[in-house]
Amino acid sequence: MKALVYTQPLEMQLQERPDPELQAGEVIIKVAAAGICGSDMHAFHGHDPRRLPGLVLGHELSGIVEESAAPRLQPGQRVTVNPLITCGYCEYCRQGRDNLCFNRTMIGMTRPGAFAEYLSIPAASVIPIPDGLSLVHAAITEPAATALHAVNLSMRVLARPLPEVRTLIIGGGAVGLLTALLLRSYGCRQVAMAEVNPLRRESARKHAGCETYNPLEVSVEENAFDYVVDAVGAKVTRDTALKAIKPGGVIMHIGLQDWASEIDMRKLTLAEISLLGTYTYSMADMYATVQALDEGAFGDLAWVETRSLSDGAQAFSDLHEQRTASGKLVLLPEV
Ligand SMILES: [Zn+2]
Ligand SMILES: [Zn+2]
Repeated sequence: MKALVYTQPLEMQLQERPDPELQAGEVIIKVAAAGICGSDMHAFHGHDPRRLPGLVLGHELSGIVEESAAPRLQPGQRVTVNPLITCGYCEYCRQGRDNLCFNRTMIGMTRPGAFAEYLSIPAASVIPIPDGLSLVHAAITEPAATALHAVNLSMRVLARPLPEVRTLIIGGGAVGLLTALLLRSYGCRQVAMAEVNPLRRESARKHAGCETYNPLEVSVEENAFDYVVDAVGAKVTRDTALKAIKPGGVIMHIGLQDWASEIDMRKLTLAEISLLGTYTYSMADMYATVQALDEGAFGDLAWVETRSLSDGAQAFSDLHEQRTASGKLVLLPEV
């Protein structure tokens, strides 16, 4: 089969790889669409010690079951997958918080990923999709589930219901934009977005009705937002989040561009700020997201851009050079 292989920092190569063989308890999926994630870019830049050269990246996908060792899934079934492979028996899996599984592994990281014609994955990770949901849209289930999980965690802590909450989203990449779209569908009326790329600002205005600004030109309104979502996760955006948040507000930290920060613990303490972290999604979040996508909760999704898998190396370098404005590039093996 054809596979797009990460060969060395800043290099992707289309190579011929052996087709995966069916293993007990697994299914082989013929990949229809696979999205490029920020974490794939991180690996491409040589910054991820868990994703080493020789690896097929990609963990956001949809496809069609080709072969199955599980009666639940028949060949021809249209599916998406939860890329986190979890054990099912640890404390967190038993609680339904499987994103925190002690024994989790991941496709496109500890085993070959989705930038290929075929992929093998445990049947337990596979989610059937409704007939009406396109395979391209189904491929954004994973980043959309990241947004859904983060919003659901936040809703437990916010003092007021979302329609009353003034929100700021920092970063208009896929997860930032999907968070804005989801908040809109939940009735959140005031969603502002800070984003440096003018084309992404335009997209957030057009698709999610966000009030937008360029944080390099305008400084953030201080003590002005009940809820701030940091979809970048850098030192500077964490500072912005803490500055923008109103007393009693909630900061949700989704992105993780750099790790360490000095936090203004005085404001955090005296102003009763809740600072929350979030990691991926549970299986329940994935199913809820498939349903939300099918119901059109994330809008028209016209901003999702498709490319051929054969042009995948070019797609990576375009993203690297910031030559594309799209919040999400999806690679199609068949085109
Ligand atoms: Zn991802
Ligand atoms: Zn587990």
